Amino acid sequence: MKALTHTSYKALEFGDAPDPVIGPTDVLVAIHACGICGSDIHGMDGSSGRRVPPIIMGHEAAGVITEVGNSVNDWKVGDRVAFDSIVFCGRCKSCRSGRTNLCSDRRVIGVSCDEYRRHGAFAELLSLPQHVLFSVPDEVSFEQAAFGEPLAVAMHAVNRVNLVGGETALVIGAGLIGLLVTQVLKQKGASQVFVSDLDVDRLALAKKLGANDGWNATTEDVAARIKAVTEGAGADVVIECVGAGPTIGQAVECVRNGGTIGCIGNLATEVDLPLQQLVTREISMFGSCASSGEYGEAMAALAAGEIQVEPLTSAVAELSEGNDWFQKLYNGGEFDSSYLKVILKPNC
Ligand SMILES: [Zn+2]
Ligand SMILES: [Zn+2]
Repeated sequence: MKALTHTSYKALEFGDAPDPVIGPTDVLVAIHACGICGSDIHGMDGSSGRRVPPIIMGHEAAGVITEVGNSVNDWKVGDRVAFDSIVFCGRCKSCRSGRTNLCSDRRVIGVSCDEYRRHGAFAELLSLPQHVLFSVPDEVSFEQAAFGEPLAVAMHAVNRVNLVGGETALVIGAGLIGLLVTQVLKQKGASQVFVSDLDVDRLALAKKLGANDGWNATTEDVAARIKAVTEGAGADVVIECVGAGPTIGQAVECVRNGGTIGCIGNLATEVDLPLQQLVTREISMFGSCASSGEYGEAMAALAAGEIQVEPLTSAVAELSEGNDWFQKLYNGGEFDSSYLKVILKPNC
């Protein structure tokens, strides 16, 4: 098969790779669309230690089943599928409690690290265990379905808040995840959603996607703005999609007493936390990582047109052009608002 292989740091090569072999409980999927994730870009220079060459990256994908193992009963050749990027064991304590994203023996597709190497979807074919598959509704294109992974991540974070409806929310960071979180907050009942970022184009896009307003954190006092629209109280919910000291501080400043801060971003490994405020104002703070079964919900929302992903799609290209796109994104394009999500197509 043809594949885009990360052969050495900062280098990718499009060429022949061995066809994947499937076991009795696996399926073989012809990949039709696979998104380039920020973690793939950060991984290609070795800084994350999560894309050790040689590895075929790619974990945000969808395609069609071309072969099924002997013991596969629930899926058949021709089914359109997307998949959970985490291959979980199904047996550990986390898996048994439904928190498959916290599996103690998880293997992430398209990742290679000290413990394992699991090839991903920047290839014509990918072998997947049947238990990570989700079906893609007919109304959803493969390009849309490739957003299933980041959308499930956004939904997982919002689900952890347990919205009751009518909340005022603030999203810090209007990157791809922030723009999906913005839409999911609205879809799940928040009455007002505000967004802060440093990039005016991304703020404009946030408003186009349903945000009540977008505030430029370099020129505006975001805390004053959120207080002005909440009778001085602050946001009920803040979802922090950056993960840096200043934005964590901003989250604490902007949340109301007794409010909730969800953290998805983790740009910095450690930050200072205004602990006294957290304690005396009884702020709840939680982390959110990947997703645990939200793919079905994500596909349904895409099929119903409740979440828009076309405005987030910057480019769709053939897999053979993948190296050019990776280099462009690595050399700064990732922070360019015109490159929110690039999708590669191994089978055109
Ligand atoms: Zn990703
Ligand atoms: Zn497990």
